[in-house]
Amino acid sequence: MRKNAFIISCMFLALAWGGKVIASAEADSRFPETAAILQILYADQLSASRTHWAYAQKAHAENHFDIECLFSALAASESVHVDNFQKLLSDLGVEVEDDPESEISVSSTKFNLKITLNIDLAGIDQKYLLLIEKIKPEGHESAIGNITYAWQAAQQYRELVNQAYSALKSFLGLGKSPDEFFVCWICGSTVADIPREQCPICKGPISNYEEATPKWRFYDAINDNELLTDEEKACAKRIFDLIYYHQEKDSDIAIDRNIFDSDLYKKWGLGPKREFSIEEQIYIMGLLDMAAMWEEYNSINPDDLDESQKQYLEEMREKYGPGPLNLREEIRKKEGKLSEAQEAVLDLIEALCGHEEFGDVELIFFAARQAKQ
Ligand SMILES: [Zn+2]
Repeated sequence: MRKNAFIISCMFLALAWGGKVIASAEADSRFPETAAILQILYADQLSASRTHWAYAQKAHAENHFDIECLFSALAASESVHVDNFQKLLSDLGVEVEDDPESEISVSSTKFNLKITLNIDLAGIDQKYLLLIEKIKPEGHESAIGNITYAWQAAQQYRELVNQAYSALKSFLGLGKSPDEFFVCWICGSTVADIPREQCPICKGPISNYEEATPKWRFYDAINDNELLTDEEKACAKRIFDLIYYHQEKDSDIAIDRNIFDSDLYKKWGLGPKREFSIEEQIYIMGLLDMAAMWEEYNSINPDDLDESQKQYLEEMREKYGPGPLNLREEIRKKEGKLSEAQEAVLDLIEALCGHEEFGDVELIFFAARQAKQ
C-alpha cells in the first residue's frame, strides 16, 4: 500500500512539473513545505485545466455535447484552484509563471474519459492525504483548507466522470449523463445539481455556484475586459453564441499572430494568448468585420436619413406593415421561406442588436448588409 502511494506520488509530481517554468522570489521561510506543495498543486491544476479544456473541445468536435459540458466544468473548477493556489503562493512571497506552450495530448472522447478516470483521478485520496500530512506540521490553515477543497472537488469529478464514461460505454444509451454542471467559484465544487442549502465543500452560500458552460472562458475574458461597455460585452457574447451554434467549423484556422498586439484585439479580444477553442479562433479572426459592423450599426442616426433610406423604409412599411417588424416572420409569411443569405444577415443583425423586432435603424442596416452581399 505504501509502495502504491509512493508510485502514485512520483507520477503525480512528474505530471505536475511537466512544461512549467516557476520563478521563486524571497519565500516566507516559515512555510517551506507548504510553498513547495502549493507550487506542485498550482502546476497540476493548471495543467489539468488546460487538458480538460482541450478534451471539451474534442468532445464538441465529436458531438458529445454532454461530455463537452462536463470537461468544461472540470476545467472551470480547476481554474478556481489555480487562482486560489496562486494567491496563497503570492502571499508567501512566491511568484509563479506558467509556460503556455506546453503540449497537450488529446485522444478520442471515450479514451479521454478513461484516462481522466483511471490515471488523473486514480489515487487522489492517497495523493492529497500524503500532501496534507506533509504540510500539517507547518500549520498554514488556509493552504490546508484550499488543498482540501481541491481534493474534495476531485472526488466529485471522479463520480461525474465515472457516470459519463459508463453512459458512453453503454451502446443502448443506458444511464444518461447530465449535461449541465455548476461550479462554486470559491472552492471549485463541481455538481450536476446545485445543492439546496450550502456548498458541501466550502459551506458557502449556493449563490457562489455558476453554470460552467463550454463558453465560460470566453464569457470570463469578455467580462474582464474593461475597455468594453456593457452593451458591447453583450454584443460580443451574442456574436460568439452565433459562431458557437451556427457557423460551420473549419479546424484549420491560422490566427495572424500580429492581431494580439493590435488595438482592435485589446478592445474586443480575449486577453492573453492561451489555447483558444475553434469558436474562439473564429471570433478572433472575425474581429475586424465585427468591430466595423458594430460601428456601422451604431452610426445610423434615424433622425438623419438620406432620401433613399427614407424611401426604403416607406417601401418596407408598405410591404410588411408598420414597425417594429419581426422581419424573419414577415418574409416567411409573404415569401414562404428565407434564402440562406437572408437568414445569415438576419442572424447577424439580431446578434448585433440583441432583439428580433427591427426598428428603422435595424431595417436600414439590413438594407446596407444586403447591398454588400
Ligand atoms: Zn464552495
